[in-house]
Amino acid sequence: MKKQILIDMDGVLADIYMQLVNYEERATGKKLDLKSLEGITESKAFSTYRECLSQKGFFEDAPVMDGSVEALEYLNEKHRVLIVSAATEYPNSLIEKQNWLAKNFPFISWRQIVFCGVKDFIRGDAMIDDHLRHLESFSGQTKILYAQPHNVGSISDSVVRADWREIVSMF
Ligand SMILES: [Mg+2]
Repeated sequence: MKKQILIDMDGVLADIYMQLVNYEERATGKKLDLKSLEGITESKAFSTYRECLSQKGFFEDAPVMDGSVEALEYLNEKHRVLIVSAATEYPNSLIEKQNWLAKNFPFISWRQIVFCGVKDFIRGDAMIDDHLRHLESFSGQTKILYAQPHNVGSISDSVVRADWREIVSMF
C-alpha cells in the first residue's frame, strides 16, 4: 500500500550546512569544520545564522543533499510524497524554495509542496526531518531523523537516525 511520506527541505533535501559554511566564511574569513559542529544547534554553530537565512539567494542557490534526487525519485514513484517545509518565518524564502524545487526536483509537482509555520497538523505515515521537535509532534508511525551535524547524539526511542542511502532501503 502507498504511504504518505512527509519530507523536510532544509538539512534533508537542501545541504544547508554547506551553504552556511560558505556564507560564514565569506562574512568572517573563517572556514568551519563540520566535525567540530557536531551536537551544536545551527544558530549557535554559525555566528551569521540569522543574517544568512534572510539573505537573498540563500535558499535558491543551496546545494542539493547527496543522494537526495535519486532517493526522492524512487520514493515518489512508489509512494505519495509531500514536501513539508516550515518556511513562512522567512517570507522571501517561499519563492526561492519553490524555484529551487522546480529546478532540482522537477518531478515533484506544486501539488506536493506544503509551506507552513508549524508541521504538527500535517498527517502522514512517515516523516523525514533533521529536527527532533518536528518528529516528536508528528502523529504518523515512521519517524526518521535525517543525519546532520546538529543532531549527532539526539536520541529518541521512536526515531531512527539515517541518511538517504539508509532511508531508501526502509521503503
Ligand atoms: Mg530541516
